[in-house]
Amino acid sequence: MASPHVFQRASAVDMPVAVGGDGVFILTKDGRRVLDGCGGAAVSCLGHSDAMVVEAIKRQLDALPYAHTGFFTSEAAETLAAMLVERAPKGIGRAYFVSGGSEAAEAAIKLARQYFLEKGEPARSRIIARRQSYHGNTLGALAAGGNEWRRRQFAPLLTDAMSHIAPCHYWRWGEPGESAEDYGRRVADELETEIKRVGPETVAAFMAEPVVGATMGAVPAVPGYFKRIREICDHYGVLLILDEVMCGMGRTGHLFACEEDGVAPDMIMIAKGLGAGYQPIGALLVAEDIHQAIADGSGFFQHGHTYMGHPTAAAAGVAVLEAIEGRDLLANVQAMGARLRQGLEARFGQHPNVGDIRGRGLFLGLELVADRETKAPLPPEAKTHAKVKRAALARDLMVYPMGGTIDGVQGDHVMLAPPFIVTEEEVAMIIDRLAGALEEALPA
Ligand code: PMP
Repeated sequence: MASPHVFQRASAVDMPVAVGGDGVFILTKDGRRVLDGCGGAAVSCLGHSDAMVVEAIKRQLDALPYAHTGFFTSEAAETLAAMLVERAPKGIGRAYFVSGGSEAAEAAIKLARQYFLEKGEPARSRIIARRQSYHGNTLGALAAGGNEWRRRQFAPLLTDAMSHIAPCHYWRWGEPGESAEDYGRRVADELETEIKRVGPETVAAFMAEPVVGATMGAVPAVPGYFKRIREICDHYGVLLILDEVMCGMGRTGHLFACEEDGVAPDMIMIAKGLGAGYQPIGALLVAEDIHQAIADGSGFFQHGHTYMGHPTAAAAGVAVLEAIEGRDLLANVQAMGARLRQGLEARFGQHPNVGDIRGRGLFLGLELVADRETKAPLPPEAKTHAKVKRAALARDLMVYPMGGTIDGVQGDHVMLAPPFIVTEEEVAMIIDRLAGALEEALPA
């Protein structure tokens, strides 16, 4: 089992030691084959033994492991930036490389701020985000996020230059008789109300996940929501930053989740699936006019980290993107996503404790409730999400459950995000093992 010297996040949990990977399985020191039903945290999109990505990393290490971006660019970073920009929504012209999602959020916040300084609008510094959102654990990203549980104990350290509006979760908060469209319009319009409340001249950006992952369990916005958000941002000169750290890089069956929402943001944050777990890498994709404003102004984005644009990480990113496209994995995400969803609906659609099954592509969530008719949540003290995680792991299945209070309502959900290479047989195994775990963990 684990050594006594690693500072584990959950100190009471004795972690199995992972020693190997085989496709969608992680192999442990004590001989188990654990089926990865959630890609860790929607990271491992190519599974755990992709020879092509490993080879690409080795080639880069042999040639040049690292060169500081204060002195050099690298072929790997140049290639990856070109590939991402070519495939990104209209207007995106640059990729700013970082090491993960939180760093992408910090870069986005600071770039939005500096952009308005360069444009001569110095009062614009506020970031508006949504309640129960998660944009990372560093202090700036945490301040932007609206997850009370994560924020609470660090509140004195968080800037109040951020504010939060309602999330978009029709199943939970749509009023009786209210259409999805009307609901989407109503909650999107909260952005306008908040901009007016704080003063349009003070707002720099709105930040949101197209499909909310960790905090809500794969909840997409209703159709039309982001179009309305884009309109409001345009009207008030506010930047739209989409956080696709979890839902991007093909997870929804499209390279960028926002393609399905039909909006072109000013910045897109990506990470997780970009390095697929083979290397730590993220990127902030930036509209060319934002980059141009800095280039025409001070000429220097006053931000950066030692490992930004790391050639070895960038080489992994290039190989991951080539694997996704060369093997037509987005088609598999769509096909296996549909199959997983059908399987979940067939198995749990009438389950008294499963209130909602939602998501896109291979990014799906189940909402666990005390009563599916009334949608009454499970009691928080039961910590059902934690029980599901334990019961699944005991059956050699990784799933990503979370619980927490959102707008006063407790929610327990289970998120599934298996690797894009998952097969029909493995999808069936996920459903079977999850059924066993839910039977053990749920009250009914
Ligand atoms: N944004 C979103 C939507 C995320 O899901 C996460 C990670 N769960 C982050 C940001 C932060 O990414 P990282 O853990 O790589 O810093």
